[in-house]
Parts: sequence; C-alpha cells; structure tokens
Amino acid sequence: MGPAIRLVFLGPPGAGKGTQARELAREWGVPQIATGDMLREAVAAGTPLGRQAKSYMDRGALVPDDVIVGLIAERLAQPDAKRGFILDGFPRTVPQATALDRLLRDVGQRLDRAILVEVPEPELLRRLTGRRSCPTCQATYHVTAAPPRREGVCDRCGGSLVQREDDSEATVRHRLQVYRDQTAPLLDDYRRRGLLVTVPGEGAIETIRAAIRRAAEAGR
Ligand code: AMP
Repeated sequence: MGPAIRLVFLGPPGAGKGTQARELAREWGVPQIATGDMLREAVAAGTPLGRQAKSYMDRGALVPDDVIVGLIAERLAQPDAKRGFILDGFPRTVPQATALDRLLRDVGQRLDRAILVEVPEPELLRRLTGRRSCPTCQATYHVTAAPPRREGVCDRCGGSLVQREDDSEATVRHRLQVYRDQTAPLLDDYRRRGLLVTVPGEGAIETIRAAIRRAAEAGR
C-alpha cells in the first residue's frame, strides 16, 4: 500500500470530476466520496436526508451546509477513509471548506492537494444536457460523445439509462451560476495556501487522468 492521499476535486458541474475520481480512487485504493452520489442514493432510498435534499437538488440549488457537513463528518469517520480519500463535489461553499479543515485538523490530518478541473462553459452545457447515467452502477454516457452500444442501455450492467432530473438546460444554467457564485470563491483560498493545481478538463479522458495523477502525486 502506498502513502495516504487526501484530495479535493474541484470544478464546475460537468467537468468530469466524477469520472476521474472514480477511476483514480480505485487505482489508489481510497474511497471516492461524492456528496452528489450520496444524496442521490438517499433520495432513491427515501430516507429523511433524501426527502430533505430532493427539492434543493431538483432545482439545482445547494443542499444546506449543515446537512452536508454532517454527512461528510460521518463518512470521513469510516475506517476506509483513514488512509485517504478523494472528495468529489465537496466542499462547494466557503463554510463547507472551513468545516472540512476543522474535521481534518481534529484527527491530525490535512489535505494534500485541491485539483481544479477546468472546462469552458459552452462545453459544460453541451456535456451536461447530453449526459445519461446508469442508476444501478453509476456509469455515465453522452448521447453523442460517448453513447452506449445500445441506446438507453448500460454497457456495463444492462441497466436502463436515465437523464438526471437536474441535467435539463434551465437547471444546468442555474447550477453553473451557483458554481460561479458559491463555489468559485473557494479557489482563491486553496490557491493562497499553495494547494491548488489546475488541470484542463478537455481532451482524452486518459490524458486528463494522467495530468491529475501527476498533480496529485506531486503533492504527496
Ligand atoms: P453533483 O452530482 O455533485 O452535481 O451534485 C448534485 C446536487 O447535489 C447538487 O446540485 C446539489 O443540489 C447537491 N450537492 C452535492 N454536493 C453538495 C455539496 N457539497 N453542498 C451542497 N449541495 C450539494
């Protein structure tokens, strides 16, 4: 086993953070902690958390900080997160970032790097509105750029593909606005602390992954 690795993946919705985080987490043997996935699971299971989160998610707004911080505190306390993690989609606000620092400090840990995956906005719109995903195994596709072999059917597990409710054009525009207003301010803070590395998020998935890998391993 390699040394611990503690990363935050930042970037607008549609930048490809999730795809990269899933693969690299597997490679490094640490959990991918994706708050969006955790919330969607809670919604699907109809838990109190899911019921609380659904209305925010459907309209592309952020779920309140205290809810998300509670969720992350519990998740980071799990044994599999002791040797590191990739946080994907968290933190999304300045208070969430502050809470993360405190949680880590309390257990004598700190972040190694914050990796920003950058993609221009017209490309994000195109990606998100064409995105389809498998609710069973979380695989993602794109109607034109990365279609499944059979339309509407997951290559990996045979599940029926769906469009996320929040990937409609109006909601995507709102999510991008929320990113600019609430999440982009975090970048300055990570930059000032020397933690931020920016990776261009366009091009071949493998090339982007190699750039993220180099950025992450330089921080170890
Ligand atoms: P994502 O899959 O990361 O795009 O997240 C989908 C939705 O879940 C977001 O639009 C928010 O409504 C909610 N969400 C996910 N992560 C967070 C977070 N860190 N803070 C607040 N809301 C979140």
